[in-house]
Amino acid sequence: MNLNSPEIKSCVQALKDIDFELAYLALLACEGLKPLSRWEKPLDGEGLLLLQQLGLEARQIHRTVKTGKDVVETIFGREPGYVQIYEQRFGGRPVDKSAETQRFEGYLFGYPPCCIEQYIAKPYTPNGLPTDDQEILFHWACRDCTITPTILPAYRSLNDLASKL
Ligand SMILES: [Zn+2]
Repeated sequence: MNLNSPEIKSCVQALKDIDFELAYLALLACEGLKPLSRWEKPLDGEGLLLLQQLGLEARQIHRTVKTGKDVVETIFGREPGYVQIYEQRFGGRPVDKSAETQRFEGYLFGYPPCCIEQYIAKPYTPNGLPTDDQEILFHWACRDCTITPTILPAYRSLNDLASKL
């Protein structure tokens, strides 16, 4: 996808007007860096249309939290398969943080397996990563991770792109 085309830029800009993280997650999904992205808020039809215009499959997923309250998540990705799998597994289900769920979500969201396992064993273990690198990621990098530094430049360039729009 040509991220410099005016049509694409205006879509990303409109998503950014809704929320910066939404626009950044959309770029990561467009570039295939994340098989699936999750924005933990509902999005209206116009917002969903913007994601579709970027070539993404987008859905609203209803979940419940412990208090019984209904929450809506927006999930999107280039491959409909990942969106369907997420919907089948989590649609209408309570939000949970079990190791099994974290492993499965990590797989869908494109997190390095080593970081997922470290996070399950002990979350937020100091990893030596500069704060401004850690904060553009959606996973907590494991200590001495060999995968995270490899994917960071691609994340950085899309974060910069979203910031400049
Ligand atoms: Zn790692």
